[in-house]
This record gives sequence, structure tokens and C-alpha cells, in this order.
Amino acid sequence: MNEDGPESRFCLGCAYPLAHLRGRRCPECGRAFDTDDPSTYSATRRLRPRWPTCVALWVAAYPLLILVLFYGTWWLAWSALGRRPNGSIHDPNHINTTVEAFWELLGCIVVLGFPFAVLGGLALLSGIALEVQGRRWLRAVLLIALPVATWIAMVVVLWNDPHNVLWVFDM
Ligand SMILES: [Zn+2]
Repeated sequence: MNEDGPESRFCLGCAYPLAHLRGRRCPECGRAFDTDDPSTYSATRRLRPRWPTCVALWVAAYPLLILVLFYGTWWLAWSALGRRPNGSIHDPNHINTTVEAFWELLGCIVVLGFPFAVLGGLALLSGIALEVQGRRWLRAVLLIALPVATWIAMVVVLWNDPHNVLWVFDM
């Protein structure tokens, strides 16, 4: 029996086989389908891909990681000095090895991670297209909204810089 033949129908939501069902709803997940409308079911058993979610999480995590490292460097410098670091006086490389390590880790992640974040963003566009194709609107919106939210958060926080975590650039 060829399950991928023209008579095959699978649920778009959960890949449950629908070929011999009389109803209009998937018994597994309840998603509606119409045997006269091929866009409401899948001809193959392929489940929805998981990779767009992983890519979206990475693209969304990158700006958060940068924020954590900026605040981490600033907080470690503050702890070591006993007062807020001042960019025109204090160099992160000359406070102590922990501050220096954080500062260098931040530099590495910014430089090495950025191309991957950009590539991830491009890959995510095709992932979003896949979700739209499968009519998984909520997933498509989340894949857009999550990375956009964290990138905006990073830009807003670093632009306003309420705690002067960018002291390291004030030289
Ligand atoms: Zn289903």
C-alpha cells in the first residue's frame, strides 16, 4: 500500500492519516479539513519541520546573550571596584581577570555570533514561509515576533543605556 499516493490525505496539524475518514475533522487533533480542497490536507505524511523553531530561538537568544554579557561585565567591574566603573578611568582588561574574561567573551560572541544570527534570520524567512504554507498562522507569527522582540529590546536598552553598561566604550 502506497500511503503517499494521490488518494492519501494526512492532517496538516499532526500528520494523522485521513484518507478513509468520512468526517471533516481530524480525530487526532480536531483540525478541520475538506476532501474537495487539497490545501486543507497534506498528500504526504511529513510532519511539520522543527528546525524553524530552533533557528528562531537562536536568532532571538543572540541579543539577549549580548545584553547579559554587557550587564555581566559591568556588574563584575562594579563589584571589583566597589563603585560604578568609569570608562575614562577604568579599562575592563585592567580591573581583574574575571572582568577581562567576560569582556573578551562578549567580543567573541558579538563578532563570531553575528554572521550566524544574520544567516539564522535568512533561514528563518524560509521557515516562516513553510509555516504560512502549512497554514500554521500562530507559529508563523511567533517565529517573527520572538526574534523581533528581543532584537528591539537589545537596541532600546543599549541605545538608552540607563545603567551605563557601555562605559567600556567611553575612552
Ligand atoms: Zn490532526
